[in-house]
Amino acid sequence: MHEAAVANAILEHVERRLADADEAVVASVHVRIGEFSNVDPESLRFAFDSLKSSCAICREATLVVESAPAFAVCSEGGHRYRILPEHAYRCTECGGGISKLVAGDELDITGLELFAFS
Ligand SMILES: [Zn+2]
Repeated sequence: MHEAAVANAILEHVERRLADADEAVVASVHVRIGEFSNVDPESLRFAFDSLKSSCAICREATLVVESAPAFAVCSEGGHRYRILPEHAYRCTECGGGISKLVAGDELDITGLELFAFS
């Protein structure tokens, strides 16, 4: 399962990032996933929850997934448009095909929330 590898990479990244932080315990990990990144948010959440005990500071963490819309520039008119299956992925202005995907294939960790201790 591809999402398990992605979840593992996220956990490893968080662990490395917080390696020097004393007593950090992660409350949530925020990720932004492009519609065209081939990652299913539900499967990723499931994989994250199954694997998070492997990262000591992530045991209590929730994965918060934000979906990023896909945009392309068309080959004919150079229009930037939202890629939609109901338009057969073609330009919504002129019907041209995709020449370049400009957004929607990202997979970024956008934030970490830690539990506060006092
Ligand atoms: Zn166009």
